[in-house]
Amino acid sequence: MQCPKCGRESRGLCIDCLLEERPITVKEPELERCTGCGLYWHKGNWTEIGKNELAEIVRKNLKVPHGIKIEELSIKPDEEKNYLKLDITLLGNYKNKKFEKKLETKVKIKKTQCKKCCRMSGSYYEAILQVRGFEFSDLDENFVAKAVKVAGGTDFYISSMNYARKLKNHLRDAGFFVNESEKLVGMKEGKNLYRVSISVKPPAFGEGDVLKYGNELLYVKKLGRVVGVVDLKTGEKKGIDMNKLKKPGIAAKKSELRNALVSAVSPKGMHIIDTENHEVYDVARIEDAQSGDTMNFVRISGKIYVIKK
Ligand SMILES: [Zn+2]
Ligand SMILES: [Zn+2]
Repeated sequence: MQCPKCGRESRGLCIDCLLEERPITVKEPELERCTGCGLYWHKGNWTEIGKNELAEIVRKNLKVPHGIKIEELSIKPDEEKNYLKLDITLLGNYKNKKFEKKLETKVKIKKTQCKKCCRMSGSYYEAILQVRGFEFSDLDENFVAKAVKVAGGTDFYISSMNYARKLKNHLRDAGFFVNESEKLVGMKEGKNLYRVSISVKPPAFGEGDVLKYGNELLYVKKLGRVVGVVDLKTGEKKGIDMNKLKKPGIAAKKSELRNALVSAVSPKGMHIIDTENHEVYDVARIEDAQSGDTMNFVRISGKIYVIKK
């Protein structure tokens, strides 16, 4: 058998012609490196990085055409000014035939400081904003003495208490859980000196989810310091303090909401038709609902709840 492209002996397309058509590629990875001690941020820790770790990082960023298995991968790193140049040698297997392929990529190095070096360098700050569980970048850099990656998030060292409180309010209004604590760290000119930590976490639910809150089923309309909800059993709209929703049960995720068309309305009830599977339900009438309206509904424990917009 011959390769249909180059005529060389092969079952189907040969490896060279295949890789010419659909090359193996590497997405350029990025690493954060401490400017103090030279450690890298890798897998949730500050650590040294060698050929093995780099090989692992390259493997994760490798795009390999279907049918090819990478059996071995070795790396030769070369340190350039703001990046690492990596010479990659791949040993692959294609249709039970081994082949070797050389590639090159760059690892961008982002300069930062690790927690330890950050403490030692001791630049001035009045508060630490501990952001966990989400990416936060909406900060005024003029007030950020440093940003330090830690397990689960980032600590921002804020040089102004006023600015830290502004951020705190802003994040609380945006619907995050915010908790402030202070620690006595010493004395300054005869006064106690406190350091404030503000921890920020996203809630476990989002807009569009349905929460189980006591006996109530609450559709989340708007996140915020006060969460805007609709009681699905009564249709009542209300606000609930975010702090009361620290550990809510989630009755349905937004992705479980379905779409329906109102097909008929009577003084007491209405017919709705699931727009996807065309199942028909009789439900209580929603104020102002008219034939032809569309609305979301959700099935919870076998019962249908229509969501008033
Ligand atoms: Zn060929
Ligand atoms: Zn360091």
